[in-house]
Amino acid sequence: MNWALIGTSTIAGQYMIGAIRSHAGADITWVQSSSAARAKAFSDAQGIASSTSDLTEVLTDPDLDAVYISSTNEKHFAQSMAAIEAGKHVLCEKPLATDIDQAITMVRAAETAGVTFATNHHLRCAGSHRAMREIIQSGRIGRVLSLRLFHAVELPTHLRGWRLDDPKAGGGVIADLTVHNADVARFLLDEDPQTIVAQSCVSGLGQGVEDSAMSVWSIPSGTMVFSHESFTHPHAGSGIEVHGTKGSVIAKGVFAQDPTGTVTVIAQDAQETISFSLHSLYVEVIRDFCNCVASGKTPSASGWDGVKSMIIADTVKRAADTGVAQTVDFRGAP
Ligand code: NDP
Repeated sequence: MNWALIGTSTIAGQYMIGAIRSHAGADITWVQSSSAARAKAFSDAQGIASSTSDLTEVLTDPDLDAVYISSTNEKHFAQSMAAIEAGKHVLCEKPLATDIDQAITMVRAAETAGVTFATNHHLRCAGSHRAMREIIQSGRIGRVLSLRLFHAVELPTHLRGWRLDDPKAGGGVIADLTVHNADVARFLLDEDPQTIVAQSCVSGLGQGVEDSAMSVWSIPSGTMVFSHESFTHPHAGSGIEVHGTKGSVIAKGVFAQDPTGTVTVIAQDAQETISFSLHSLYVEVIRDFCNCVASGKTPSASGWDGVKSMIIADTVKRAADTGVAQTVDFRGAP
């Protein structure tokens, strides 16, 4: 499968190039950037055959199969639509867009064109998250009463750009991290929230966008969900707690790009450390994506999953901005 990188991003350089190249038969043949010079420098540094600032040049390559879009968020819509129109498969970064209607349009267009469209919600591919989901589904901790998600970290210095000062590019901790928490909650519980209350604040880094948020969601089964995201917490550590009528699952350090962290089950007064697969999350994202292209199956994080995580994050934002509980409107998303 021949891939093009759309965007000379940090995540492409740090993770996705290696993940794509680790698959037999996969190659990266193009990199496109809004800057021709940046595309050239990136292709030279990463050993990619062709570079350009012209997306059409990439998409008219008949040997190209798929694009990985990791530009800033406001560019995802136009780039995805162009790729879909050209018949290319799309792996798009979260959040899928800066506008929910645009995200829905992207996903519907991919369905109509018959191309695979996936959202890079990589945490679904983590061994730790899969182990937690299996424990919940096995009934071992009983009926789930509450889920607490902590994704409060310190934004690394090299990422302190558009995330902190550019709402049009999708900046702010809600667009950046709440979408991940939303997808993790949906993945673990197999349910969608109905109403949300929230608060957000600028607590040190944000310039015109929020850098911390807390929200509480109600879901149909009665489980309560608490979600905390921040760019300003150097020592909080990330984690997930799932509390059931018969036991709890406590996971630490599992909101990560690498296969890190611990998962512990406490049930019937005994504590057990759970072992889980330590495979690369992003290699697994690409493996899943390639399988879906070959088989026509739905990716582990589909386009609709990306739409729903955006809708939940948007509802958190509205709840925080208004101080009023908000109903989550999934706009018919399946
Ligand atoms: P970066 O800030 O590193 O890059 C984003 C875009 O900015 C690049 O694609 C590039 O676009 C442009 N750019 C790069 N360097 C410069 C520069 N020197 N001056 C101006 N523009 C520049 O973004 P991230 O890698 O942090 O994030 C990219 C996307 O990936 C986002 O959508 C983000 O939400 C998502 N993400 C997802 C993660 C996950 O695990 N799923 C983790 C991290 C990010 P261009 O070359 O087209 O100009």
